[in-house]
Amino acid sequence: MTSQVYEFQAQARQLLDLMVHSIYSNKDSFLRELISNASDAVDKLRLEGLRDKDLDADISDLAIRLTPDAEARTLTVSDNGIGMTRDEVIDLIGTVAKSGTDELRRKLAETDAKDAGELIGQFGIGFYSVFMVADSVELVTRKAGESVGTRWSSTGDGTYTLDEVADAPQGTAITLSLKPVDDENAVHDYADQNVLRRLVKKYSDFISWPIRMTVTKQVPADPDIEGAEPTVEEVDETLNSQKALWAKSPGEVSDEEYAEFYRHVSHAWDDPLETISLHAEGTFEYQALLFIPTQAPFDLFMRERASGIHLYVKRVFIMDDATELMPEYLRFVQGVVDAADLSLNVSREILQQDRQIRAIRRRLVKKVISSVQELQDRRPEDYQTFWGNFGRVFKEGLINDQDNAKAILKASVFASTNSETEPTTLVDYLSRCKPEQDVIYYMTGESRTQIERSPHLEAFRAKGIEVLLLSDPVDEVWVSSGIDFEGKQLVSVAKGVVDLDDADAADTDEDKSKRDEQFAPLLSWMGQTLADDVSEVRLSSRLTESAACLVGDDFSMTPQLEKLYRASGQPVPKSKRILELNPDNALVTALQGRFGGADDDHAALEPTAKLVYATAVLAEGGDLDDPAEVAKLLAETLTRTLG
Ligand code: ADP
Repeated sequence: MTSQVYEFQAQARQLLDLMVHSIYSNKDSFLRELISNASDAVDKLRLEGLRDKDLDADISDLAIRLTPDAEARTLTVSDNGIGMTRDEVIDLIGTVAKSGTDELRRKLAETDAKDAGELIGQFGIGFYSVFMVADSVELVTRKAGESVGTRWSSTGDGTYTLDEVADAPQGTAITLSLKPVDDENAVHDYADQNVLRRLVKKYSDFISWPIRMTVTKQVPADPDIEGAEPTVEEVDETLNSQKALWAKSPGEVSDEEYAEFYRHVSHAWDDPLETISLHAEGTFEYQALLFIPTQAPFDLFMRERASGIHLYVKRVFIMDDATELMPEYLRFVQGVVDAADLSLNVSREILQQDRQIRAIRRRLVKKVISSVQELQDRRPEDYQTFWGNFGRVFKEGLINDQDNAKAILKASVFASTNSETEPTTLVDYLSRCKPEQDVIYYMTGESRTQIERSPHLEAFRAKGIEVLLLSDPVDEVWVSSGIDFEGKQLVSVAKGVVDLDDADAADTDEDKSKRDEQFAPLLSWMGQTLADDVSEVRLSSRLTESAACLVGDDFSMTPQLEKLYRASGQPVPKSKRILELNPDNALVTALQGRFGGADDDHAALEPTAKLVYATAVLAEGGDLDDPAEVAKLLAETLTRTLG
């Protein structure tokens, strides 16, 4: 087949353009990316070789090789791993399959050029990072088991070329035609053996496959042979120690080494916020090295996102994406688990059933939660970063992990009426509330602003009772699961009857029952008039200013939860809530004054009753069933007042 020219997918072209113009400051990272990919490819071939005994591939000496050529100014990074088919090359190298690319492009469009590098760092660019240091790139690859290989080449402009290669060696070789050295702009001499040796040590020392380079070595003259000359010999040097970092004790590993390892396993470009190292001995022997990232990956909320845990058995890679080892609500955790007693050809199905895996998972989960708790207790700034990026995901555990819900709740923070800016822990909430308050109050809604405007908070504010303001969709679900904290129930200020009356309140019980009696006919008439919309009308003790608000039963859905269900396509029966009136509000007292006796004709008051209900819906940010009718009523009422 002759060579064919292809266009990069549009998204790929844009990312390439960014790379060619080198906005990311750490250009050395291209080597880490290539070695990481090569190491993955070798892992995959080893596994495939175990699975398929007839696979036509040599797995006897798997390795990665660096071949610099100082004269030609090229660097080749090759591996004898799994390789790619022609279609895979088009798919994997010609397009950006990574989810979140659109998001990245959107953000880049809004970002100043000088900050764009940081965004690239957050996103990670993988293979394309070669164009930070190379003018043109050639990739020759042959998929294990196939006879013909593929050559891909590009100068990083809009197109790439594909050729067939009859005698391609096993695996993938990537040759970079290097840009001129420009130390000022951090483009170093990647054709220099010493530079490469240093970079491998720095970024890729822990890679479990040997990273080799042929180096020239001076051999001194043999003193026993007369007239012998010193010679120059070419020898293979392995540049990395291949030591598994997770097997070392934390004291032996520097932060920088951990960070590089984190970047290798996660294919991320940021630093880990927290490193968790676990060595378990006893019944189940295993080692784990886990990381909490600093930055949220772009696809954190995308369903198809892979788990970040790689499973090893006695230092041998078994699988990435080991979802069995980490629950979904901790899907941001990246790292490695090395279990000693699993079989090397363990399958996913076996993993799901395995007692040992379940025991390891339980322990890892507890350890991650306690690490988050430690961040909260000891490193408030880092905790804030964590919470901003992963809090919403972490809270999913309150619904999905009953065993750890209490610990998760303790390690979480929530916005509250106590502070505009600082969220509070529940421990702090309890430390501020009066000893006689035996519940924790909260209100849910779509945003803090919307919740804060809601009339339900009036009496709480007036009495200085702190209320949690919960505005993440996940909050709606976990708060209604009946969870308590230190024996105190979480109670919605928008549900049920609230009894905030304290001993020194002005109203006596007697005053109250007299008032109840007075209002009874009005309440009952309004209940009938608004029967399509509300289940009952009663007097409120949670309002100090507004005329009315809507409250649910202790167990009814909030309007937000109804919206969520509807948005997810589930049928929701129309639930009627209770309309509460504020007996101290001028509109309500006037209405009561006009009402007269139960037997009078109240038709003239109907529009007012309907408008009182409509205002209650609007005040909590709700949607009116029939806004046109309300607008009409309002216009008529206004006309009458003016007339
Ligand atoms: P990432 O590694 O983050 O997925 P890359 O752009 O670095 O993104 O690589 C894209 C894909 O190309 C990889 O996921 C892998 O499937 C394939 N690939 C890259 N390098 C190699 C290689 N040396 N051998 C085999 N496949 C490779």
